[in-house]
Amino acid sequence: MLHNDQLENWDRENFFHPSTHLADFARGDLPHRVVTGGKGCHIEDRDGNRLLDAFAGLYCVNVGYGRPEIADAIADQAKELAYYHSYVGHGTEASITLAKMVLDRAPAHMSKVYFGLSGSDANETNIKLIWYYNNILGRPEKKKIISRWRGYHGSGLMTGSLTGLELFHNKFDLPLQPVLHTDAPYFFRRADRSQTEAQFVTRCVDNLEALIAREGADTIAAFIGEPVLGTGGIVPPPDGYWPAIQAVLDKYDILLVADEVVTGFGRLGTMFGSEHYGMRPDLITIAKGLTSAYAPLSGSIVSDKMWSVLERGADENGPIGHGWTYSAHPIGAAAGVANLQLIDSLGLVENAGTIGAYLNTTMAGALGSHPNVGDVRGEGMLCAVEFVAEKDSRTFFDASAKIGPKIAAKLLEQDNVIARAMPQGDILGFAPPFCLTRAEADQVVAATVRAVTSVLS
Ligand code: PLP
Repeated sequence: MLHNDQLENWDRENFFHPSTHLADFARGDLPHRVVTGGKGCHIEDRDGNRLLDAFAGLYCVNVGYGRPEIADAIADQAKELAYYHSYVGHGTEASITLAKMVLDRAPAHMSKVYFGLSGSDANETNIKLIWYYNNILGRPEKKKIISRWRGYHGSGLMTGSLTGLELFHNKFDLPLQPVLHTDAPYFFRRADRSQTEAQFVTRCVDNLEALIAREGADTIAAFIGEPVLGTGGIVPPPDGYWPAIQAVLDKYDILLVADEVVTGFGRLGTMFGSEHYGMRPDLITIAKGLTSAYAPLSGSIVSDKMWSVLERGADENGPIGHGWTYSAHPIGAAAGVANLQLIDSLGLVENAGTIGAYLNTTMAGALGSHPNVGDVRGEGMLCAVEFVAEKDSRTFFDASAKIGPKIAAKLLEQDNVIARAMPQGDILGFAPPFCLTRAEADQVVAATVRAVTSVLS
């Protein structure tokens, strides 16, 4: 198959690729790549290129490529039992073990995990559970969900609405009505540049309270946020942001969903971002790092507080009317068990913390004073470089100049390093596998400097 020289034609004629310029791709104006293998932090394509993947796929291949421990677990499970459903109390050794492993790692006040397939469907589940919860509590008006501009929570109908990026709304008739957006905690892009970090946090909190007052607290069910904004630009929150937001949510009895699809299972150098920032979520969304993307699997971790209401709902109304055919799919569950074991045995959470800090410091040292670099920021194994046309006035480039995508393309072309041009703004994102070495981090930084110099000299 790999030697089939028809593949490119078949690809352009038949394959509807996600997040792709459809017309350019069909016309052949956008490159196509057939990925054939991977080992550690590298992938290979069928043209013989070996690329250092500094974005771990879509920040998901956390343990790195080519791990036989996970591949073997998947194969063993497929041979033993490829599928059985998890409705009405059915499970497999893998799914039951994985549920325990997830709860053992989650914050102490979490109670159960519901398994899905993608981050998007896990967030859809979360919203349904939140509405169900408030109906059982006799609060049918308390249904609106607040998310942040630049948040990313998926691309379904509800989750695409929660996502606060224009590209995911435009021409899709989104966002849907029950969703409200509030400020992104994006200190670098604050409107009033005279604000200190503390003043900026106060402003975010005041705006949230004003939104709640305008809408009425008895109409607002939940607030959803990523501990660190991911697809919206890789933006760690300013100091004190989460405790201040949490206090507002507690005051108005608003649930918190921590979307940990990117941060869950170690990316910040801690098991969960919620602990890292002192959040007390009622629901935690998990996906990518749960299996390191070796098989599709996601989850909604439900708190004790919500669980007791869900049980009451079942006593009053019967079995919960929510389930996917592939919930807790045995192959995904087997991948999850092997993945979490590997993360522990290789000490990858710690490595994400130490090498991630090294990557961030080295990147800031190499590019911080470049006249077109406005900000270098990150946390754990997440790092971003944001470009500006003029530093002192913080003037951004016109989007049509495509500076971010050009630098990402140059990085790939010159040094075979993959970073991601984030979708809104000229921001180059890095989210390597947790097994990145210091030497690989140095390579990523050196290549980035060369790409920035080539495009912006
Ligand atoms: N939530 C966050 C924070 C994400 O980053 C993503 C995907 O990037 C999702 C949800 C959606 O996950 P999926 O693409 O698996 O539906």
